[in-house]
Amino acid sequence: MKQLTILGATGSIGQSTLDIVALHPERYHLFALTANDNRAKMETLCRRFTPDFAVMSNADSAQELHRAIADLPTVVLAGDEGLTRVAAASEVDIVVAAIVGSVGLMPTLAAVRAGKRILLANKESLVMAGALFMDEVRRSGAELLPVDSEHNAIFQCLPAGSVGAGISGKGVRKIILTGSGGPFRDIDLRAIEDVTPEQACAHPNWDMGPKISVDSATMMNKGLELIEACWLFSVDHSDVEILLHRQSIIHSMVSYDDGSVIAQLGNPDMRTPIANALAWPDRIKSGVEPLNLLQVSQLDFTLADDRRYPCLALARQAWQQGGDSIAVLNAANEVAVAHFLERHIRFTEIAKLINEVMERTPGGPAGDLAAILEADAGARRLASELVKTRL
Ligand code: NAD
Ligand code: MG
Repeated sequence: MKQLTILGATGSIGQSTLDIVALHPERYHLFALTANDNRAKMETLCRRFTPDFAVMSNADSAQELHRAIADLPTVVLAGDEGLTRVAAASEVDIVVAAIVGSVGLMPTLAAVRAGKRILLANKESLVMAGALFMDEVRRSGAELLPVDSEHNAIFQCLPAGSVGAGISGKGVRKIILTGSGGPFRDIDLRAIEDVTPEQACAHPNWDMGPKISVDSATMMNKGLELIEACWLFSVDHSDVEILLHRQSIIHSMVSYDDGSVIAQLGNPDMRTPIANALAWPDRIKSGVEPLNLLQVSQLDFTLADDRRYPCLALARQAWQQGGDSIAVLNAANEVAVAHFLERHIRFTEIAKLINEVMERTPGGPAGDLAAILEADAGARRLASELVKTRL
């Protein structure tokens, strides 16, 4: 029986993880569930799964939850302290890092330092602090397993032991990262100016939280994933090729020196990579329908157009600049996306805002954790000020 903590249990990845846990009550016990402020959803989850602990980041929501589930044995904790405690507790075997954005960094790092098996969905935490994050993984002996579907696919296509150790000497020619191109891959370039948050969140193939849905529409998601792949598998951006693949059936590939290309295929459903990482090296049922290739019938590949997806070039640029530029890119993107979702800025202003924040930020070497958090906070301040001048 493995003890599980799910950071971000009320979100899309949290829900998919709980669906798998419900299929395997003999394998997994829920030690802790965490959420930001969605008290009602957390109450429902506590009544269904009775975890040992429930953490609400928002203190008022924690008090409300405490009153609402007084009849349950679940202990309610609050704030960052509660998050860190359930991420690092000695009882815990597996931590699912599924908080969205850079706020996930500290609890995820707490789980890394405690040497847990970490199922990483929260790509922002690795992207912004990659060098330090991977050093901590190597030092603590934590077992880092990618849940992001592309990285889980690459993980499955590479020889065992490639996370944190790199691919040199393994006969790898290239990593091929696939992406669907999002909901605006076919619309007229001028029409992109006027798209709404609802349109941006209506992804053709995947059902995800709002932030990553917008990232998929701008393809900043693929940019963050490029950086995520570089950190995870110790490669440079030139070792990673990005291909648009509209069906989202091939989740990524590895091309080898002998001419072999190994791909991982499946229906676009996050329960597959989550189940893979939960049970690895075993294979368990995930509830996902088997892939029907006759129904899919065709797989298409094209290159991404830079004019349609300027965020992709910004991410490459941040990786090449290195240092704290990557934390700046990520923070500016988070602020820009939040303002787009609030209808304060247009979709096309997301890339412009990130570009402006990057240009105005001098960019320093990759420092320690305090320096990374400072770069993140500085970029957030600047991005927010720039949005105010546009309102
Ligand atoms: P979501 O918005 O559906 O859920 C986010 C979760 O984080 C919620 O449980 C929320 O309560 C929690 N949260 C948000 N802000 C918080 C805060 N300030 N403090 C504490 N908790 C907070 O997001 P999601 O789509 O499930 O994505 C989660 C992460 O997984 C993201 O980093 C995303 O990039 C990554 N990811 C998601 C998918 C997907 O299919 N949804 C696929 C690959 C990677
Ligand atoms: Mg992905």
